[in-house]
Amino acid sequence: MSNNPQDTRLDRLRTQVLEIAQRMANLGLVRASSGNVSARFGKGFLITASGIPYNELESNQIIEVNPEGEKKSGTGKPSSEWRMHAAIYRERGDVAAIVHTHSPYATSVAIARSTLPIVHDEGRILFGEEILVASHSSPGTWELADAVVKGLGEGNAVLIADHGAVAVAESLPEALTLAEKIEEMAQLFWLSLFIKEKDGHRN
Ligand SMILES: [Zn+2]
Repeated sequence: MSNNPQDTRLDRLRTQVLEIAQRMANLGLVRASSGNVSARFGKGFLITASGIPYNELESNQIIEVNPEGEKKSGTGKPSSEWRMHAAIYRERGDVAAIVHTHSPYATSVAIARSTLPIVHDEGRILFGEEILVASHSSPGTWELADAVVKGLGEGNAVLIADHGAVAVAESLPEALTLAEKIEEMAQLFWLSLFIKEKDGHRN
């Protein structure tokens, strides 16, 4: 064991990224190895490894990368979505953690390429009136990273067309809570549509 305080911090943050990633999976916000979690570390960040199911993921598979996505430590390859994370950390000095999910209700809104109207009062406190959807680009590309940064703006959440959702925050637990809330808001929006449709038929 190293006594270097930077190493201790790195180890602690690795463990926290792993815990948040596994909680994200247990909450049903992703399946198998989809989605990813990262946390800012120094000039770069820590990010979940590519292609490992969350129930098999170990803390050494939380990969440390520099801002250009080059691996500094860890076992395996960083998530193929590292560019999106790198671009968000570059543009948003206030963001220290990112949770990217494929949660089904939010993703289905993103597949409809619709903004997500926030129909719940508590949700409006977190997200305002709507969560925007970033324009479509292929996964893992800088084009997608740029589209996500643009869609996110100064906000804390964005949908990605045909793909999923992204939540950003100052800490990992906050980012996970936001990811859960995005899905809750999307579910409430969908369910409210059916009631409106029913009322429309009645009137
Ligand atoms: Zn994804």
